[in-house]
Amino acid sequence: MRLKTKVVLIIAGLLLGVSITGSIINYMKNVRDTQAQLQNTSLPLSVDNIYTEIQQRMIEPLLVSSLMSNDTFLRDWIMEGETDMNGIVRYLTEIQQKYDVFTTFLVSDKTKNYYHPRGLIDVINKENSADAWYFRFKEQSEPYEINLDHNANLGDFLVMFINYKVMNYKKEMIGATGVGVRLLNIEEMLSSFKTKYKYDVYFVDQKGELTLFSKGLNKRGNIANIEGLNKIQEAIYKSEQTQFEYKDKDGEYLLNTKYIEKLKLHLFVEINKKEYLDELKKTFYSNLFASIFVTVLVTLIILYTINIYQKQLVQLASEDALTGLANRRKFNEHFEKLYKLYKKGVSRLTLLLIDIDDFKEVNDTFGHLIGDDALIRVAEILRVELRTSDMIARWGGEEFALLLVDVPHQNALEIAQKICHAIREDKVLMELLQKPLTVSIGLGELSSLESQDGLVYKVDNALYEAKKAGKDQVVVA
Ligand code: GH3
Ligand code: MG
Ligand code: MG
Repeated sequence: MRLKTKVVLIIAGLLLGVSITGSIINYMKNVRDTQAQLQNTSLPLSVDNIYTEIQQRMIEPLLVSSLMSNDTFLRDWIMEGETDMNGIVRYLTEIQQKYDVFTTFLVSDKTKNYYHPRGLIDVINKENSADAWYFRFKEQSEPYEINLDHNANLGDFLVMFINYKVMNYKKEMIGATGVGVRLLNIEEMLSSFKTKYKYDVYFVDQKGELTLFSKGLNKRGNIANIEGLNKIQEAIYKSEQTQFEYKDKDGEYLLNTKYIEKLKLHLFVEINKKEYLDELKKTFYSNLFASIFVTVLVTLIILYTINIYQKQLVQLASEDALTGLANRRKFNEHFEKLYKLYKKGVSRLTLLLIDIDDFKEVNDTFGHLIGDDALIRVAEILRVELRTSDMIARWGGEEFALLLVDVPHQNALEIAQKICHAIREDKVLMELLQKPLTVSIGLGELSSLESQDGLVYKVDNALYEAKKAGKDQVVVA
């Protein structure tokens, strides 16, 4: 693998590693923070809000029921034989209207008559399951109880009944009275917790039955039969703890509970972790995507910059700064390639070494800068005279080298002479130096037994011969 690829891969890997690790750490921190915030603040706060709301809703009906049970009219009315139907109807109706409750009632223990603002509507019976509440209540020592009833007669909503015992003056139970309050708003409140905060709110009685819940809740029945909850039911009943975590097939939950003494109900407020994890996961993926995008972008920028610098370096290493021609290093590289091809019998190679005549004199007469301009102009002429496939380089100070590929001997000689001619006749040089500039050229073709150095040596000698013979000419090795 190339060093550049390695460096880029290492940098990209490091960037990617850092950004992915960062995103994961961030995600884990977010999960921890959200969970802690829910468990320590939001869920307990909701529990308290609901608890307060329910307490407030119960206070008035409890007071009204207590007042009814202690009302001497009511006690006397039962003890006097339940004769004045209008009287009791008026009483129950008045209480119902005054306190704006859903219903009021009175049950006589003696006759088992159930009185209602509409009159005597029922006679309760031990055998009837709908009446079981009365007989159960009678056995209890507490003076009152709160019942949640979902009764077909009551329409499609829950009613909270507050049952108070009516005692005679000897403290014997002679009946039960109280009010029923619609809990429709509570159902609305529970649903709103779900839509607003994604919390499920429900109530569980002392036997573990889910008694009050919003329609959207996916749990029904007794918590003893509900996966996950059954494992923590003991701890919930004991109310030693108020925070729980449990799992079922639909996910993992954070649960906060509170026992409401007056209702004899446990209030449950919980959230499925999925509800907030999905949101956090979305953030995680978009963070990750952004980091990967930035990493790719940075990698591309690095790659682009390296490429530019590499190109510049390659150019610097292979180009002659003054003339823009290939330098000797580059020439030798190319020469080596062609030499290998030649050894395979592919091409014919001809080397020309061109040396400017009396260049020292040019420098001495016009100065180095003009000398440089003359060198630049010579390079331009060489470029124009040659094909792109021919290699041309600055060999040394005022010397140039040319490598012709697959050029027959006669043509090579013509090219060399054309170069001599073109330089000698060039108007720009003439103007610059006030007299023609000439070159001497050594020319030689690579023979099968010759090495690279051998050819150079041979051609250099030919150049020397050209100088000796009076310059401004081509000598073939
Ligand atoms: P000959 O005809 O025998 O080749 O004579 P010459 O004067 O050309 O040869 P010599 O080797 O004595 O001198 C070459 C000169 O070229 C000397 C040197 O200062 C000059 N020269 C070499 N490189 C540069 C260059 O980059 N710029 C300039 N201005 N002069 C250069
Ligand atoms: Mg020279
Ligand atoms: Mg010279």
